[in-house]
Amino acid sequence: MNRKDHRMSLASLHPERDEECTPDIFMVAGVGNSCVVLTGEGIVVIDTPLRNASRVLESIRARSTLPIHTIIYTHNHADHAWTTGIFLDDAQKNGYPRPRVIAHEMVTRQFELDKKLSSYYRYINRIQFGQGFIRPAGYEEYVTERIIRPDVTYSDSLQFRLGNLTFELYHYMGETDDGTWVWIPERKTAVAGDLAEGFCPNIGNPLKAQRYELEWAEALETIAGKNPDYLIPGHGPVLRAEQVKEVCLGTASFLRSLHDQVIALLNEGCWIEEILERVRVPPEFTGKPWLAPVYGHPTFIIHGIHRRYAGWFNGNPGELFPSGKSQVAAEVVKLSGAAHLIERLKELQHQGNIQLALHLADFVIGGSEDMTRRKEALLEMVKN
Ligand SMILES: [Zn+2]
Repeated sequence: MNRKDHRMSLASLHPERDEECTPDIFMVAGVGNSCVVLTGEGIVVIDTPLRNASRVLESIRARSTLPIHTIIYTHNHADHAWTTGIFLDDAQKNGYPRPRVIAHEMVTRQFELDKKLSSYYRYINRIQFGQGFIRPAGYEEYVTERIIRPDVTYSDSLQFRLGNLTFELYHYMGETDDGTWVWIPERKTAVAGDLAEGFCPNIGNPLKAQRYELEWAEALETIAGKNPDYLIPGHGPVLRAEQVKEVCLGTASFLRSLHDQVIALLNEGCWIEEILERVRVPPEFTGKPWLAPVYGHPTFIIHGIHRRYAGWFNGNPGELFPSGKSQVAAEVVKLSGAAHLIERLKELQHQGNIQLALHLADFVIGGSEDMTRRKEALLEMVKN
């Protein structure tokens, strides 16, 4: 698998657009989608994403004055579960009972981890979402303080009725181990959380904790088996009938294929480098917009699957206790000279081999004491 240059942005792929599925179920788009269900006995909100809760509340109050009865989290992430306070304030202001919050039992533990690792998460989110590599200075109060823990948790599944509708909650492991997807049978509507993101699944995220490829596939197959008329995803537009089948079953089969190939190669005795070279995305998935590699990427998925079943050793004993990268780079610079390395990296760039050029730039940046040369190598690479 080669490095690819994907310059599409998530925003261009998914322009924010609210959508109505049925007269009583609608989606409010945002950093993560929210689903609102209006019943005669109150309102159910599925997900309360960071920075979007007031818009969700406005959309609700434009349609109904009934109390918000239940809030469901599809998982613990900030773009799904971090602004519940606004809905609790709304209840208090209107003299309504406090809405109950339902989530999978692992959500509370994950909220604790969010807090424990808040400075680290803040740093890596800055990197992941394009705000640069600058470490936040010291500890600052992070948004975890606004998190509302669930009142009701469950293990495998939970069902309740409100008004004339049934809400079936199912646990899954996918982008997190605390995932819930919701089925509303009377409306044949599935609310999938980040099981459906509208692009290549974010499994094997280079910065984040383990994700679960097979369980992700299984959950998508279960959703498709319900024959939904509508699927409200965690991100991206609502999917309808045939689209649901295509995206859910297609993504599941894509994940299963990568999983099976990695396992077969591990059993052949291959190390990670050979696995990355030999795993192929089946041709039927090429160019599918719902697998656009703008957030997840097949190479990252292979890493994620490998990490789940194998250790970090790459098969080269020289790398069990490696010298520092800058020490190795200094030796290379001493032998060939920074000027030669820069000349060669420009040639490689010209030939379109950006990745190899990047490695040569790393030798100069990490190993040369000549600041001008280091800057030159860095600027060459920034051009790309
Ligand atoms: Zn999300």
